[in-house]
Amino acid sequence: MSHQSDLRYSARPAARTEIPRPKRGEGQWALGYTEPLNKNEQSKKDDSPLNVRDRILHVYSRRGFDSIDPADLRGRFRWMGLYTQRRPGIDGGKTAVLEEEELDDRYFMLRVRTDGRLLSPATVRALGTIGTDFARDTADVTDRENIQYHWIRIEDVPAIWERLDDNGLSSLEACGDSPRPFLGSPVAGVAADEIIDGTRALEEIHRRFIGHPDFANFPRKFKTALTGHPSHDVAPEVNDIAFVGTVHPELGPGFDLWVGGGLSTNPMLAQRMGVWIPVDEVADAWEGVASVFRDYGYRRLRSRARLKFLVADWGIEKFREVLENEYLGRQLVSCPSPASPVGHRDHIGVHDQKDGRKYVGIAPTAGRVSGTLLVRLAEVMERHGVDGARLTPYQKIVLIGVEPTAVDALLDDLDLIGLSGRPSAWRRNTMACTGIEFCKLAIVDTKNRARDLVAELERRFPGLEVPITVNVNGCPNACARTQVADIGLKGQLVTVDGEQVEGFQVHLGGATGLGANFGRKLRAHKVTSAGLDDYVTAVVTNFLADRDDDESFADWVAR
Ligand code: SF4
Repeated sequence: MSHQSDLRYSARPAARTEIPRPKRGEGQWALGYTEPLNKNEQSKKDDSPLNVRDRILHVYSRRGFDSIDPADLRGRFRWMGLYTQRRPGIDGGKTAVLEEEELDDRYFMLRVRTDGRLLSPATVRALGTIGTDFARDTADVTDRENIQYHWIRIEDVPAIWERLDDNGLSSLEACGDSPRPFLGSPVAGVAADEIIDGTRALEEIHRRFIGHPDFANFPRKFKTALTGHPSHDVAPEVNDIAFVGTVHPELGPGFDLWVGGGLSTNPMLAQRMGVWIPVDEVADAWEGVASVFRDYGYRRLRSRARLKFLVADWGIEKFREVLENEYLGRQLVSCPSPASPVGHRDHIGVHDQKDGRKYVGIAPTAGRVSGTLLVRLAEVMERHGVDGARLTPYQKIVLIGVEPTAVDALLDDLDLIGLSGRPSAWRRNTMACTGIEFCKLAIVDTKNRARDLVAELERRFPGLEVPITVNVNGCPNACARTQVADIGLKGQLVTVDGEQVEGFQVHLGGATGLGANFGRKLRAHKVTSAGLDDYVTAVVTNFLADRDDDESFADWVAR
């Protein structure tokens, strides 16, 4: 193994990269700008957001909603995975004009991170009963592998945390300027075609850094993805940091490092470092990149604080140099970035495991599940001897460890509870963010709109097998990845006959994976929510009539 060490490390001494201090400070700590430059930075400096946990347990949950300090309520609560939800009945036109406190309900959204973990049937049941007991039966699957509840009372938070803790789960740092929930490959350690299993690396990052005070105050959110599957099934292109399975010709399987991806209003695809990192050193690399972000990230303006802006300004070579010289103290091994991803990433349907069993991907509609449905799913899993479930970055669920002889009966039972392993192409490829039902930033409804759209498209295009992804977002923040869908929908008000009504700006032809790129924003393509079914029908009809043989939707748009 000694030649491996030689290849992996250089004797080059750590040296500081020359970074001129800009005339106008961007709030970069490493350049001496440590004084808070906005109210978010001030709040984090006033008190570590991690300290709010004790106040929730011992003060707020006992004294009730009105006892909560506003700086905790609208700031530090996020580090505990808690946001106030939108007060019912406020239409999208008021989102931009009302103050946050006017939009606040007295109930919370609670986000539970799973971080790519395998959830046993007992844990799936526990997640379901949290929904039925405390959350008016809500329990959505998000595209960051979270379970998201609504209608949570502050009084119930300690009991919920206790149940989560009993199952090895938590909501810690599920929101806030923190290491947000990780995306892990839903088929890590089991898929027959896996390059490398990154499970233990993700577990180590979690163990070392979640809840660690040195990594709890980033300039903004910090999103992590890790996969060793050849389909790149964690949308690595749009994460702040991603580890993607690769094979070095001499050293074998390891991970490439990608940094600086993100969507929202200034979308950027992650830049590939072209390195080879062994699984046991992934956590160190994560620590290095997270430290670069913490120390050099821009803290002056929230709108420029994501890592992608720093990576874009520096370029990937300089970013790597700072990472190696100032944080890792060694050079990373160069290795060409992995080839384009192979296959569909959502894992829907029945697939081979390396142990001879099967995994089965199932599709709720646009991530909408419920506490009751999770309990039913747990029953089905137990009845058929399923090992566990993982959530996916596409708002889907993958059942792991299914005996081949149990597959048919399992699929039948899943159909009966409404979680199909053989869904229509529309149900399979549609996602929706939280939207106006609960989100204070939303302008339009998303979940219900997506559900109705799927039902209508199933009726209008029965049996369609061409994958056309539809991502429905309630505002420009792109939580359901507006810019990387075949048909990306960004919620906004549109004017019809002088009236403002709910609608969408359309982006066409975006993609992650093979040919990753952003959809074209066609200014003329603004559609009312009411007209969405007909708009999508017209676009898809044109595509089907005009496409060459196996041409994809994105390629057709790009012609
Ligand atoms: Fe809320 Fe906008 Fe994100 Fe949808 S995209 S969940 S509306 S912030």
